[in-house]
Amino acid sequence: MVGLPYQSGYNNRHSLLIQGNIILQQSTPDTDITDMETLFLLYSFIFGALVGSFLNVVIYRLPDEEQSVVFPASHCPKCNTNLHWYENIPILSYIALRGKCRTCKVPISLQYPVVELCMALLSLALYHRVGLSLILPFHFLFLAGLLAIIFIDIHLQIIPDKISLPGILVGFISSFFNPLVSWQEAGLGILLGGGVLYAVAAGYALLTGRDGMGGGDIKLLAMIGAFLGYQCLLFVIFFSSLTGSLVGLAAMFRQRKGGQTRIPFGPFLSLAAMAWLFFQQDILTLWFWYLSVSG
Ligand SMILES: [Zn+2]
Repeated sequence: MVGLPYQSGYNNRHSLLIQGNIILQQSTPDTDITDMETLFLLYSFIFGALVGSFLNVVIYRLPDEEQSVVFPASHCPKCNTNLHWYENIPILSYIALRGKCRTCKVPISLQYPVVELCMALLSLALYHRVGLSLILPFHFLFLAGLLAIIFIDIHLQIIPDKISLPGILVGFISSFFNPLVSWQEAGLGILLGGGVLYAVAAGYALLTGRDGMGGGDIKLLAMIGAFLGYQCLLFVIFFSSLTGSLVGLAAMFRQRKGGQTRIPFGPFLSLAAMAWLFFQQDILTLWFWYLSVSG
């Protein structure tokens, strides 16, 4: 139902653009399209915030085998008071409650509204990028998975197989709906993503006698390769290593523990994957420009 007016509206805009864009501002069809577009952007933001609210639960309960992600209902971790529906509105409730539980006044983690806002913005950006297309639900799931992995890895230094392994499968299936990635490229992404990082990790362990990268990172890169194709891997590995090293150096400097500081690598892989998803065109343009300049 909702797809139809958007589709015809899009065509109208397209034909108007061909005729010349001076009349665009006054024409009624275009005003309708703009309203429609704004409405869908708003929907995608709200939907993303709601999913972000669910991700908060996933982040806290998924790594724990004992806990269900569906039950019990949302409650204050300190005084166990169940939250009313109006205390459970993404982002807004945190602001309304001024970051404290209504009953016991214990501070609520800032992470809750941050995750909700991040997912809302990712959802908005994704809709803006791909529109109402078949790849939209797949990339939405991909971004939600990456966001959950970022926070779980920061807290527990693990990347749950419960996200990465189904993610590899869903990513491969998504290639059949992705105009930018063929199933062969997705398949190669899984093999190279898993394989290359495994080789790097094994080499590092051999050279230093320490584990640099966990098996979770390898499965995550295979998942990223599945969704974005093998083409993304060079950038993802380069960008995550660069940002990871910079943050690692800063952490080493602050903690003064020398080379023993361990920082999770999953967040950097995830951020690199997000950067590729949204900016691959710009990244490639920059890369070819660099090649032409460096001769
Ligand atoms: Zn409380």
